[in-house]
This record gives sequence, structure tokens and C-alpha cells, in this order.
Amino acid sequence: ERGDRSEEQVSGAEVVAQALKTQGVEYMFGIVGIPVTEIAVAAQGLGIRYIGMRNEQAACYAASAIGYLTGRPGVCLVVSGPGLIHALGGMANANMNCWPLLVIGGSSERSQETMGAFQEFPQVEACRLYSKFSARPSSIEAIPSLIEKAVRSSIYGCPGACYVDIPADFVNLQVNANSIKYVECCMPPPVSMAETSAVCMAASVLRNAKQPLLIIGKGAAYAHAEESIGKLVEQCKLPFLPTPMGKGVVPDNHPNCVSAARSRALQFADVIVLFGARLNWILHFGLPPRYQPDVKFIQVDIRAEELGNNVRPAVALLGDINAVTKQLLEQFDKTPWQYPPESTWWKTLREKMKSNEAASKELASKISLPMNYYTVFYHIQERLPRDCVVVSEGANTMDIGRTVLQNYLPRHRLDAGTFGTMGVGLGFAIAAAIVAKDRNPEQRVICVEGDSAFGFSGMEVETICRYNLPIILLVVNNNGIYQGVDAGTWKEMLNFGETATVAPPLSLLPNSHYEQVMTAFGGKGYFVQTPEELQKSLRQSLADTTQPSLINIMIEPQATRKAQDFHWLTRSNI
Ligand code: ADP
Ligand code: MG
Repeated sequence: ERGDRSEEQVSGAEVVAQALKTQGVEYMFGIVGIPVTEIAVAAQGLGIRYIGMRNEQAACYAASAIGYLTGRPGVCLVVSGPGLIHALGGMANANMNCWPLLVIGGSSERSQETMGAFQEFPQVEACRLYSKFSARPSSIEAIPSLIEKAVRSSIYGCPGACYVDIPADFVNLQVNANSIKYVECCMPPPVSMAETSAVCMAASVLRNAKQPLLIIGKGAAYAHAEESIGKLVEQCKLPFLPTPMGKGVVPDNHPNCVSAARSRALQFADVIVLFGARLNWILHFGLPPRYQPDVKFIQVDIRAEELGNNVRPAVALLGDINAVTKQLLEQFDKTPWQYPPESTWWKTLREKMKSNEAASKELASKISLPMNYYTVFYHIQERLPRDCVVVSEGANTMDIGRTVLQNYLPRHRLDAGTFGTMGVGLGFAIAAAIVAKDRNPEQRVICVEGDSAFGFSGMEVETICRYNLPIILLVVNNNGIYQGVDAGTWKEMLNFGETATVAPPLSLLPNSHYEQVMTAFGGKGYFVQTPEELQKSLRQSLADTTQPSLINIMIEPQATRKAQDFHWLTRSNI
């Protein structure tokens, strides 16, 4: 026994910080205040990076993106009551996306519970709906094991959000350092594999497919399955379609990528392999009329509860995507097979891809002003560095942008996701830029925002400037939500109604100079109205690695998507 150590005291805040450090937590986002300031200070003291944000919601989005990008949860640190409640949006978003996240919330003094304490709220109960695991340690001594359990739960099985509640009276309470036992860092998630008979069956269903299709979801990106799935595509010559965040697992410019013929591919495929993509609204539930009524799904997922949702799969492969794909590859190594490249299916898909690409190119080449979405995105695509992270949100901005902006690498696209959340962009971009600073300093983060989407977390521009993150924010500005009106029409409406309360609810203030939000904090701002101005500002922003910039791109307020084959396609996510 070391007698000299028995006198040593530690605070609850220090125990929380040390427990997080022991579990390999590297990044903490939050807003400090009573009672969590000491936790942030202690974490920083141990070398955890602390990023102070301006709203807990954005802080929580940022922390969740860390989980997706690194495979270990980021921490979101919030104060009691309203602080925690602001973070619920981020927890819900992470949980819906199946991304790991750890929220640490301060809460009011236990001795004042039910008495109307400062910011008192039933936080553990409140978080249950938005998380996989939500709990409060029973004592300071119980903190390390609870944090280990929360970190482990966030990454084991289907990843998700976890919550740990730290009462105010724990934070500054001093306890004997000897009484605290830190639990070793949890092991990486165990890798599960599918049943061999199911793998054989899947291979045989695929071999007999007339019109096969692979769908690559963000589960495959999270699982780091790029090498095995890329091999499967190459070896079996299969057409594939990425979901929005599945983009880049296999590069978008791969000849087998059929994104440009998405509707056609979904509608006529007879066998579809789902790699970490759920049959939810993004994939139209797997049902007619978007699919053949007798399409055979081969579902690969780590979560058994997901298998069979909305459609009964022909084969269910329960397991880790990377491991299961390797199992499938073994089958095709044993008895080689490839899908004939000269099939009618390929011909149909190629024709459709060609005509769709030509239609967007034609819109992009329109020289009328204000610019349309396609013109803007083609200019951006031309200049984007291959390895940049593209963050995107906004209705039309995200939907149209996705079809033009290419991803060549996995986990390089972050967007509104499964929950369709607007306001995630700046938090995601900050997280991506912080990770890039540590691991890949040359990498740029480009954040393509609609003007409405930008507004949700716009004050995070101050955060971007404070940490001097060389993010390039592009605000595609159509004066509104979906659509806006031009300045002239706006003025007429003001004359008519004296106040703007008669304006369409979709409208935002025309010609807003969002770039001045950036210049207010010392970053670079550009207001652009022509393709030439856009090119020039992009060139300058990309060349400048020392500071952030915001390019406010004015487009036609009524600009929309190109004509769709089906009227019900106009509001689909992909
Ligand atoms: P998308 O939005 O791209 O369609 P979803 O979020 O709907 O993707 O689906 C992702 C799926 O991936 C989830 O059902 C999740 O359980 C699954 N998943 C996550 N990690 C893994 C993994 N390592 N192996 C297998 N499946 C995984
Ligand atoms: Mg808009």
C-alpha cells in the first residue's frame, strides 16, 4: 500500500475526464456553464480536445460526426435542463443515423431533487427516447464503469447515442483517489459473421439474377467495408448504387456506378443486395411502384431487428458488412462468376445514365442569370479537390448537389441523413475539419448549404473563425425555403401589407449578405452572382489554407430540379 497516495483527493469532474480519457475519447464539443465547466477544464488538462460551440444542438451534431468519421464516440458536454434539451436533437439524429455518440449532461443537485432546483429536469428519462443507453452513476466511484459501459454500448452492435448524467454535487466533491478504480478501455466491437448456409444461398441467388443491383449504404461506410465491396463490384462486374452517405465507398466515377439511372435501377432490378442500408423512406420502403413486386432482397446488416423490415428478404445475412462481404467473396473465389457486361440490363442502365447526364449538363450550360442549381454545382465540381469532405444540407441544394458533386473516398460525405435534419451542416463541417487538422492537414472541408439550412446553426461561423478552421462554406441562396421571391416582388408585398407577414411562408429576406456573417468574425466573404465570380471566389478560397471563407451564391429564386420521370420523384431524398 502506498501510504502517501491515500491522502490524494480527486474531484468528480476529474474522475469523469480521466474515465473518458481511459476509454480513448479524443474530442469533446459543448457549451460550458454550471455545473460542467470543471469537466471541460479537466478533460482539456488530460489532452482531450475541447471545442466550445454556440448551441448545444450544433455541438451534438459535431460530436456525432466524430463517431461516424473515427468509429469512436465524440463527447457532447452540456449543462442541465435547457442545455441537455437542446442536445436532444443531436442525440436523435445520431441514433437515427446509427452513429456512436456520448452525451454527458450536468444535472441539478441531488439534495434538491423534486424541489424545483435550478434547471431541474428528469434528464435520464428524457434521453431514453433518443438513445440506446441512458443512466446516472450511483456514486463517484461508479463513474468509470458507467462511462466504459456507455462508450462500449455506443459502438457495439448497431452504433448509437448514449447518455451519462452527472449531478452538480458530484462535480466538485473531493474523494480519496485510492477509492477510484478506472476500467480498462473497452475492446473494439467483436466482429460477427453470417451463417455459412445463408452465405451460400445469397451467392446462388446472385448468380441466378437477371438484373442484379448492389445498394451501398452508410452502414458499409461506417463498417470500413470499402476494400471488400470494391472487390465484389470488380470481380463480379455488378452494377451498384450508393445511398447519399454511401457515396464514395466505391468511387462515384467507377464505371459500374449507376447513380445517374437510380430510378431505373431500383424499378427493374430482380435481385438487390443491401449493404448497410435500411428499407426506409430513403429507399422507398423496398415496395412497388418503385420496385418490382417480386424483387429478391439480400439484406446484410449487423442488427437482426432490421432484417425483414417492410419486405421479407430472400436471404438475411446477419453480421458485420466487411466480414460478410468477405464471406461472399470466398464463394465467388471457389466458383468464379461474373455478371455478363453485355447484358440487356447493362444496356438499359447505360442508356438511361447517358440521357440523364446529358439533361443535367444542358441545364448546367444555361448562361442566363441568375444562375440555376446545375450551373452552380458543375462549377463547384470542377474545382473540388478529390479528397475533400463534402458536407451538404438544404432541400434542393442537397438533392441536386448530390447528383453532381462526386465522392471518391468513403466517409467523405456528411448530410441531413436518415432523419432529414436541417442545421447539421456547420457542426459536421467543424468536426470534419478538426479531425482533418489532426490526421490529414492537407484535406479541405467544403460545406454546401442552402440559405435556409445555413440559418439553423449560422452562429457556428464564430466557432469556425475562433478555431481558424479553413472550411469553405458555400451558401446557395435562393431567398427562401425550397423557393423564394426576388427583391422586387418582396418590395411589392411589403407595400401591400406594410409588414412582411403576408409574404409566402417559404420566403426569406431577399439578397441577404450571408458572407458578412463570415467577415464579421475575420474570415473571408464573397458575394457572387455570375459563373465567373463563382470560379474566382472558389479558386481563391481553395488556395487560402489559412482561414475560412463563405461564398454567398445568388441563384434564381424559383430554380428547381430538372423534370423527373415520375411526379412523385420531386420530393424524394435521392
Ligand atoms: P443509408 O441511410 O445509407 O441507407 P442506413 O442508416 O439506413 O443507411 O442503414 C445503415 C445500416 O447499417 C443500419 O441498419 C445499421 O444497423 C447497419 N450497420 C452499421 N454498422 C454495421 C456493420 N459494421 N456491419 C453491418 N451493418 C452495419
Ligand atoms: Mg433556399
